[in-house]
Amino acid sequence: MTISYDPPAFGHSQTKLAHCAQTLEGIGASGGALAKIKADYGVAHTNCIDVKLDVRSAPDLKEETQSQSTRRVEISSDRPLDPSVAREVKGSAGSKAPGTLAKSKSLPYMADTTLKRSEINIPGSKCLIYTQVSLANLTSYRVGGPAEWYIDPHSLSDLQQTVAWARSKGLAITVLGAGSNLLVSARGLPGLVVCTRNLRYTKFDQETSQVISGAGVPIARLARQVARQGWQGLEWAVGIPGTVGGAVVMNAGAHKSSIADILVSTQVLSQTGTTEKQGPSDLGYGYRTSVLQGGESLVTEATFQLQPVGDPVGVMATTNAHLKQRHATQPYHLPSCGSVFRNQEPYKAGWLIEQTGLKGYKIGGAQVSELHANFILNCGGATASDIFKLIGYVQEQVEQRWSIRLEPEVKIMGEF
Ligand SMILES: Cc1cc2nc3c(=O)[nH]c(=O)nc-3n(C[C@H](O)[C@H](O)[C@H](O)COP(=O)(O)OP(=O)(O)OC[C@H]3O[C@@H](n4cnc5c(N)ncnc54)[C@H](O)[C@@H]3O)c2cc1C
Repeated sequence: MTISYDPPAFGHSQTKLAHCAQTLEGIGASGGALAKIKADYGVAHTNCIDVKLDVRSAPDLKEETQSQSTRRVEISSDRPLDPSVAREVKGSAGSKAPGTLAKSKSLPYMADTTLKRSEINIPGSKCLIYTQVSLANLTSYRVGGPAEWYIDPHSLSDLQQTVAWARSKGLAITVLGAGSNLLVSARGLPGLVVCTRNLRYTKFDQETSQVISGAGVPIARLARQVARQGWQGLEWAVGIPGTVGGAVVMNAGAHKSSIADILVSTQVLSQTGTTEKQGPSDLGYGYRTSVLQGGESLVTEATFQLQPVGDPVGVMATTNAHLKQRHATQPYHLPSCGSVFRNQEPYKAGWLIEQTGLKGYKIGGAQVSELHANFILNCGGATASDIFKLIGYVQEQVEQRWSIRLEPEVKIMGEF
C-alpha cells in the first residue's frame, strides 16, 4: 500500500530526517516502511530523480542531496496500514485551514515548492488536523515556517481527543495562543501545534464578580468586557495582544499589575488527557514566569476575580487611558512580540539597550525600535533569522557594556 505525505520536516538536515523517521513510524508506517523521496529540483528543472532510502538510515544521505530534495514522500509499507491511518493521510490541497498558506505560496525553506496539505479527521471529534500550516500567519511577528501538524479545536473534549491522538502517534505538542510572544524558526515546528484560539467563551458571575474565560479569549477583549460591567482589575491588559491562556502562562502584566494578582484558578489539561484546577500558588508565579512555561500542561480556562465598583464609565476611562499611553510609548504600528527581554531589576532592558546605543540598529528587515528599545520590529521582509540574530547581537553588546546578560522574554521556537 502507498500513501502520500508531505512533511515539512523533510529536507536540510539529518536531524530533520531522523525526526521524520519518527513521524513516519508515528503515523503507522513502521515495520519495513520505506520512504521514497522524490526530488524534482524545483521549477527550473524538469528532470526528477528518485531516491529510495529507509528513513532510519538517513544519516547516510549526503547533506547536498538532502537540501535539494524532499518535496513529497511516498511511504510504502509491506504490511497493511491501519485503516484509520490510511484514511487520515490523504491529500486535500483545496481545503481551507485558518493560517494556511495559499496553495501556490512557498515556504521560506522550501522556496520552490507548491504546497500540498493533508487533513486528518480525528475519530470521535469534529477536529481536522492540517499539515503545512504557516505559523507566520499565526504569530504577531509574521515570520516563521510551518507547523508539521496543526489543529485549533473548538471544545475541551476535542482538545482531549487531539492530545490522545498526538500521544498515540508519538508527536510532541506545542501550544499556541495568539502567537504574540513567539519567534518561530523559518524551518517551522515538528510535531503538532495546538492553537487555542477557538476556545472562546466568557461567563460572568454577578454574585462573586468572577469571570470565567476560555483559553482562546483575547485578553484585551476580556479587559473591555469586564470594564463594561463596571468591574476593576483588568484595565492594564487592554494593550496586550495575547489570549487568556497565553497570559496565564506568561503571567502577563503591565502598569504594575499582572495576571497573578487576579487569577483565582486555571483549568489545565495534562498530556495524559486529564484536567485539573490549579491556583496561583501552584503556578510558581514570578515576573513574566510560571511553571506552565515550557511545561507539559495546556491551559484551557481561567477564572479571574474582579472588583465591582459600579462605575463602568470610570473603569472604561482608565482602560482607554492605559491604551492611549501604550500607543504613545510603544511601537504598535509594525509587527513585534512586545518586549523582547525581561527587565532585570534595578534596570529596565529598554534603558540598557538604549544606553548601549542600539536604538534603530538593523539586521536585515529587523530593527531595534527607535521609540522603545526593548522592541525589535519586523520592518517588512524580516526573516526569523534576522530577528534571532538581532536578539543575539543586542545581548552581546549589552553584556559587553554592562556585564548583564539580557534574558529573552520572547519564546524562541524551532531550530535556528
Ligand atoms: C505589541 C505587543 C505588546 C505587548 N505587550 C505586553 C505587555 O504589556 N505585557 C506582557 O506581559 N506581554 C506583552 N506582550 C507579549 C504577549 O502579548 C504576552 O506574553 C501574551 O501573554 C502572550 O499570549 P499569547 O496568547 O499570544 O501566547 P503565545 O505567544 O501564543 O505563547 C506564549 C507562550 O505561552 C504558551 N501558551 C500559550 N497559550 C497556552 C495555553 N493555553 N496553554 C499552555 N501554554 C500556552 C506558548 O506555548 C508559549 O510558550 C506584547 C506583545 C505585543 C506584540
